[in-house]
Amino acid sequence: MTKQELVRLLALEDFTPVYEEADRIRRETVGDEVHIRAIIEFSNICARQCRYCGINCTNPNIKYYQMTREEILATAREAIDAGYRTIVLQSGENPSLDREWMGSIVREINGMGATVTLSIGELSDEDFRYYRQQGADRYLLKHETADPDIYAELHPCGTLESRLHSLMAIHDLGYETGSGFMIGLPGQTLETIAEDLLLLKKLNCRMAGIGPFIPHPETPLANEKQGDPELTKRAVALARILIPDANLPVTTALGLVDGRENAFACGANVVMKKVTPDEYKEAYEIYPAMLDKTDIRKDRKLLEEQIRALGRIPV
Ligand code: SAH
Repeated sequence: MTKQELVRLLALEDFTPVYEEADRIRRETVGDEVHIRAIIEFSNICARQCRYCGINCTNPNIKYYQMTREEILATAREAIDAGYRTIVLQSGENPSLDREWMGSIVREINGMGATVTLSIGELSDEDFRYYRQQGADRYLLKHETADPDIYAELHPCGTLESRLHSLMAIHDLGYETGSGFMIGLPGQTLETIAEDLLLLKKLNCRMAGIGPFIPHPETPLANEKQGDPELTKRAVALARILIPDANLPVTTALGLVDGRENAFACGANVVMKKVTPDEYKEAYEIYPAMLDKTDIRKDRKLLEEQIRALGRIPV
């Protein structure tokens, strides 16, 4: 598909045939299984100033935390006992993160029988290599927007070029590469979204998280409009067609079931569930969200039931 064709499809009056095609491809490539991943947001310490993000370091109201090694491992253990087999470790981007500390946590969780996905920001090529050697299999680093000008505007302390360099390094080191982007960023057009989609393919992504931008009141983008859920689902469907066997999560920002509609019907096959302990969860507010109390085992059971009710197989 060309950029022009993607733009034309994104703007369709009736998108139903594209959803149906995406759903058919999803069934043929990745099947009816929905993968449930556990995400531990182990620290909100971040040196970046991403203008959309609630934990950007210019927000004076953040209560900073970093979970201890013991807390992270106990949370991972509980998640694995509840049935999870992939643990996503996510945090802000902390240049002072102790890499031996982090590496040993990756090894321990691997030893418990789970795959580890890291999502801890842009690192040096050397650090990417180190964590790969310690056993991390996947790395999530969304490119956020493929438009260099919008990227520069939203990231006073980074460039699209350096983000893409990291994504290529991740791929070359043998990680399963996860990228993604937001829908509804100020200045974004359908052309930008088409570029975002084509970039996923160019980066050889095996995973792509596409979610709506949600304004956070303590950021410079507080008064901007929220991203459109329908446009978000259209982008997920087109991602399914462009990278047919990728893992495509329904992002937490989109929600699982909106009204009576099945959020997986757009071609998605993954969902991530927060297992971050309650005492820290609130402080990891990248965008405002309603947070329920965490009960890892119960939450997973409920999610499995919801997925089965949609005619899909939770794994
Ligand atoms: N520090 C890591 C993890 C970032 S948080 C990194 O740099 O990769 C995970 C994702 O949350 C981001 O990649 C971004 O796409 C999303 N995000 C941040 N703020 C958001 C907001 N206000 N609305 C929607 N998504 C947001």
